[in-house]
Amino acid sequence: MALNLFKTFLLPELLKGMWVTRRTFFEKKYTLNYPEEKTPQSPRFRGLHAQRRYANGQERCIACKLCEAVCPAVCITIDSEVAADGTRRTSRYDIDLFKCIYCGFCEEACPVDAIVLTRIHEYHMEKRGENIMSKDKLLAVGERYEAMIATDKAADAPYR
Ligand code: SF4
Ligand code: SF4
Repeated sequence: MALNLFKTFLLPELLKGMWVTRRTFFEKKYTLNYPEEKTPQSPRFRGLHAQRRYANGQERCIACKLCEAVCPAVCITIDSEVAADGTRRTSRYDIDLFKCIYCGFCEEACPVDAIVLTRIHEYHMEKRGENIMSKDKLLAVGERYEAMIATDKAADAPYR
């Protein structure tokens, strides 16, 4: 009874809460002002997909379909054909970003490092159908960010 009266009139919980505020007020802040400030990213970050080319411009992908087979979300669709030089190439390579769970299995399965997940995570869609990353779009991402992709692959190589 006396304790309840003490709590009612002196509000010790309020004082405790104010003490926590006072204690943390001068400590280092962990809030980032995104997008001006960003957290560090791992070279293994799994963001937007890309298809890569060799230095001579040839597509890496050989249409083996291992990525399509391993994808747990069944979001990769591949059609293949024989190219003019006799090699097997994809005539269609689509990834449905709405289905993708960014597990990275496609990248792990690829024998020629063709399909990769980049560090790009700031992207959006405005129209119906933009969730499909077609072969042309994937190659365009790969061409634009090849330097970053190659650097990340090299950083990860000692651990594989
Ligand atoms: S990251 Fe995973 S879910 Fe997405 S396409 Fe690759 S294998 Fe499929
Ligand atoms: S991206 Fe790699 S795993 Fe997928 S079909 Fe092409 S070569 Fe095969």
